[in-house]
Amino acid sequence: MLQEFARAKINLTLDITGRRADGYHEVSMIMQTIALADVLTLKKIPSGVKLSMDATEIIGGENIPADEKNLACRAAVELQKFCGKSFGVSIDLVKKIPVAAGLAGGSADAAAVLRGMNRLYELNLTETELCEIGARVGSDVPFCIVGGTCLAEGRGEILTPLNPIKNFSVVLAKPNGEISTAWAYKTYDENPATIHPPNQEIIQQFARGEFDAAFKNFSNVLENVALKKIPAIADCKRKMLAAGAKVALMSGSGPTVFALADDESAEKISASIDDAQTFITKTF
Ligand code: ATP
Repeated sequence: MLQEFARAKINLTLDITGRRADGYHEVSMIMQTIALADVLTLKKIPSGVKLSMDATEIIGGENIPADEKNLACRAAVELQKFCGKSFGVSIDLVKKIPVAAGLAGGSADAAAVLRGMNRLYELNLTETELCEIGARVGSDVPFCIVGGTCLAEGRGEILTPLNPIKNFSVVLAKPNGEISTAWAYKTYDENPATIHPPNQEIIQQFARGEFDAAFKNFSNVLENVALKKIPAIADCKRKMLAAGAKVALMSGSGPTVFALADDESAEKISASIDDAQTFITKTF
């Protein structure tokens, strides 16, 4: 038996650079792991995949599938296929990451199952192999395996590790409502952005340790799309900046807004939000 933490991610930037023949969008995003995590306990069983999930702590948790559609189960099945052996596993999942929030909660669970089964059965699969299996489950799974601070390109599966952004407090504000990633990308196609995040410039600023300059360059091309459905995103950003956030931006396809801050400002930023669920966590 072993335990794995499935840590959420935020998008420091999100750019869409094209459409691919396979229907996916070509993206270029700077991703950051945060400490907020689901907790998974894995046990060997003779064969198959069993899931028990406690999603009572999160709003909308009752809508997460608790069967083979759950991304944790799909990851286990993909690993079994890859290895050509049964490697039965029982997964006990406690959800803490808000769902359909732009924090990649499901992808984080899939990544944790792959890492965990690799340890449980001493499979010695490399990180590259785990990422290959993870990419079959979802575009964000490889990043959730590698973690830290990365540039993610292609569908999100081509990863370049960057200078880590360490020791910032992260305040999350999740306004009411959910945004499906598919809806956000489809709506974006009808009205694409004209301003794009300067990812290469930001990467150089990180390398030089010029974080304050880099924060000014953060942006997410899906933010305007999400704002049309959930205007509270703009209120959260305004309140967080007024309360001392270094930067406040929507993550992924939203609607969660994150603020990066010094430890001393985090409580004040969180307290400034009265109409959204908030979390205080750290970059990881
Ligand atoms: P992203 O940032 O990758 O767009 P997200 O945070 O917006 O992800 P998730 O929370 O991963 O989205 O959930 C997206 C969908 O996946 C939901 O409809 C949910 O029901 C489904 N799902 C399947 N398995 C899981 C899981 N283990 N945890 C959360 N959601 C899951």
